[in-house]
Amino acid sequence: MLTFFRYNDPMKNLRNALLLKQLYQLKELGYRYTTVTPYREQEPDLSLPHTLEALKAQALGCHLCELSKGRSHVVFGEGSPQATVLFVGEAPGVSEDSIGRVFVGRSGELLTKMIEGVLKIPRSQAYLTTLVKCRPLQESRPNSTQIHSCLAYLHKEIELIAPKVVVTLGETPYRYLTGEEGSLDQVHGVLHTHESYQIIPTYHPSYLLRNPALKPAVFEDLKRVKALLG
Ligand code: SF4
Repeated sequence: MLTFFRYNDPMKNLRNALLLKQLYQLKELGYRYTTVTPYREQEPDLSLPHTLEALKAQALGCHLCELSKGRSHVVFGEGSPQATVLFVGEAPGVSEDSIGRVFVGRSGELLTKMIEGVLKIPRSQAYLTTLVKCRPLQESRPNSTQIHSCLAYLHKEIELIAPKVVVTLGETPYRYLTGEEGSLDQVHGVLHTHESYQIIPTYHPSYLLRNPALKPAVFEDLKRVKALLG
């Protein structure tokens, strides 16, 4: 059975002509039916999964950038899928990479204290993640190519969690989520209104461990977060 298709696109016309020729050849060989299907242009599906579990599964097998070569684990975000507050750090460190969990070690402990002490919610009720999901090589910072390769995962996490407030920890997540360049000394605690959530930048807990004099400033930033959460 022969089926004819008419397209205006020259490439499609060419492919259909070749297909037609193939079908006539099959007919001459005695075939009356064939499973050969006409050419159809198929767009590759580049969209990310629409559940956190599926998104995590995709990230765990990701080799989109060179950070995949040096990692022990992909460190995906964790916490409540219904979280109203989402914390974004820059990248997994040695401790996170070695066990595959976000914000562990001393800076993780400090962040947990900040969440539970100021926001008065258990850490498990927040959502914690990073700008890139694999540890940068030799403790360097992720470069912009690596960050842009990974950023779609973060945007999808934010879309799926739909938090009221995103707290950026350190200058890099702040810069990539707001497009602003300001120094954290000037912009920490300043509210940015995004389409569907608010962004509040503050210092990263690992920086705070090295600069404990900044603790009162972070305490004030988190009090602002608490006021927004209601
Ligand atoms: S850092 Fe992100 S983009 Fe790069 S390999 Fe890891 S998961 Fe993929």
